[in-house]
Amino acid sequence: MICPICKKKVSLLDAEAPFCSERCRVLDLGAWASGDYIISTEPAFERDNGE
Ligand SMILES: [Zn+2]
Repeated sequence: MICPICKKKVSLLDAEAPFCSERCRVLDLGAWASGDYIISTEPAFERDNGE
């Protein structure tokens, strides 16, 4: 498989798979934390009072 961060080949047996190293794993987590992948879920369930 391919490391999603640096596109290096990674063995499935690697302890850090699918990442090639702990560094890339942390970078991926950092991308999430810094808002690269914003999950925009509106609180639609709060708008249920219009009967
Ligand atoms: Zn990598």
